Amino acid sequence: MSADLPTPEPNPESRSLHFIEEILEADRAAGKHGGRVLTRFPPEPNGYLHIGHAKSICLNFGLAKAYGGATNLRFDDTNPVKEDVEYVDSIREDVQWLGFQWKGEHYASDYFPFLYDYAEYLIQQGRAYVCDLSEAEIREYRGNFHVPGKNSPYRDRSPEENLDLFRRMKAGEFPDGSRVLRAKIGMASGNMNMRDPLMYRIRRAHHHRTGDAWCIYPMYDYAHGVSDAIETITHSVCTLEFSDHRPLYDWFLEQDVEGRFFQRPLPRQIEFARLNLTYTVMSKRRLLQLVQDGVVRGWDDPRMPTICGLRRRGCTPEAVRAFAERVGVAKRDMVADVGLLEFCIREDLEKRAPRRMAVLRPLKVVITNMAEGDAFEVEVANHPDDPSMGTRKLPFTRELFIDQDDFRAEAPKKWFRLAPGAEVRLRGACLVTCKDVIKDASGAVVELRCEWDPASRGGNAPDGRKVKGTLHWVSAAHAVKAEVRLYEALFTQEDPMAVAEGQDWKTLLNPGSLETLAEARLEPSLALAQPGERFQFERTGYFAVDPDSQPGRPIFNRTVGLKDSWAKLEARIG
Ligand code: ATP
Ligand code: MG
Repeated sequence: MSADLPTPEPNPESRSLHFIEEILEADRAAGKHGGRVLTRFPPEPNGYLHIGHAKSICLNFGLAKAYGGATNLRFDDTNPVKEDVEYVDSIREDVQWLGFQWKGEHYASDYFPFLYDYAEYLIQQGRAYVCDLSEAEIREYRGNFHVPGKNSPYRDRSPEENLDLFRRMKAGEFPDGSRVLRAKIGMASGNMNMRDPLMYRIRRAHHHRTGDAWCIYPMYDYAHGVSDAIETITHSVCTLEFSDHRPLYDWFLEQDVEGRFFQRPLPRQIEFARLNLTYTVMSKRRLLQLVQDGVVRGWDDPRMPTICGLRRRGCTPEAVRAFAERVGVAKRDMVADVGLLEFCIREDLEKRAPRRMAVLRPLKVVITNMAEGDAFEVEVANHPDDPSMGTRKLPFTRELFIDQDDFRAEAPKKWFRLAPGAEVRLRGACLVTCKDVIKDASGAVVELRCEWDPASRGGNAPDGRKVKGTLHWVSAAHAVKAEVRLYEALFTQEDPMAVAEGQDWKTLLNPGSLETLAEARLEPSLALAQPGERFQFERTGYFAVDPDSQPGRPIFNRTVGLKDSWAKLEARIG
């Protein structure tokens, strides 16, 4: 290793290197690329990014950072029909939100002239030809895994003829689909991707950047490697389904036999396992379907595994990055437990979310032995373990709300919350005992009549009697009315794609994935909460202010509950 290379940052965790880091270390040691590391994140702008993309982003940017390199953002916009600027903008926003800054921002479409020139060069070298077979014929000629392909009758056209036809394809002389440009590799190859793959097709489609300048568009496999080489990417990290495409990736670049087009050494493709998550779907096509069918409110619905959905739900970029680090880098496909993601979110919010009191399903409590004039203020900490987060004052008055879940007309064993005759602590305020239960005509409990012990102000009785239950509460007159949206998994089955024969994956949708509570009552300080702000509602979970909130009428999304399903998981997996 030469002395002027940037020193890699020490590995954050004391874990051993994963296989991609090992490759990078070996390349540095060998002085390949002069020790340079340049990775890229290459989304196709045909949808919003999801947590799987976040894994790829963290990996690409993380590798570059660890080895003193940089990462390009490249929009792989070679397929004009499915792509849109809306997606480009969202992708830029999401990558930045995750905390990464790219070096170059590129578009594969910017390379159309270069790709075209290189294609002409391949034709001149006898490495590519224009083929007039129909799509169906090409498929038939290609054979399959057991049957070798047959040569196209157009395979032996001369370079001159091919060049003439290719130029006329570009000039728009032929109808869509009538001709293609193919690489001339070999129809007997054991790797189907190598059987004279398509390089260009004719398609009169408007492109969101190049407009109508082109009527021929390069295929992904051709454009991708060439784009990497143009940008002098050193390590081209992609997912496993591209393993079989690697020989083709290399082939296209190696045909630059005179070294006229690309800097050496050429980029190297490295594959790792896609990330999947339980109880959700990950492909953009499927997510788009959920949006189009109105199953969710949009790409940023908090139930979606998209980055914008997670953001709206209240998840932090730090939690996503921690999750990406924990799932690791594997060579075999994996499904991460959504419980692990929730664990990472909780772990992060536990530190940073100020505590607040919020009653989700209000039940009125009247303290009958308290006079109006007895009302007082309670000062409570914003975080039990972090005094720097300060304190706030809450009004405690004669009429309060507690959560319906905290009362039972008939107390089961070990029930320490409120019940007829039972005494509980109202957090930070005092002890109250339930004396009477008021029901409406249908028998539903509508109000509790309680008595307080004035000597217990602050929360403890001077006689030291033990009161186990502590409840959160809000003052009825001061409370802010809010809508609270509770989310559960989108699907009822761990792997929604593992559907029975003939069954539609959408029948596995969870009808209870959204529960809206329109009558929640929050402590007064939350009236000023701004969209995106995150809090822990004591005893309930972590919540974030939804952008749909109106002044005086906040809407909160439950990011994650307090219950730790991870603990169970951890016990199982050790
Ligand atoms: P999808 O199949 O979800 O539509 P995609 O692979 O078509 O995803 P691209 O826009 O092509 O989406 O992906 C950009 C980059 O993100 C690629 O390098 C791809 O390998 C990577 N990527 C996509 N999905 C995942 C995933 N689930 N796990 C890890 N990396 C992923
Ligand atoms: Mg793709």
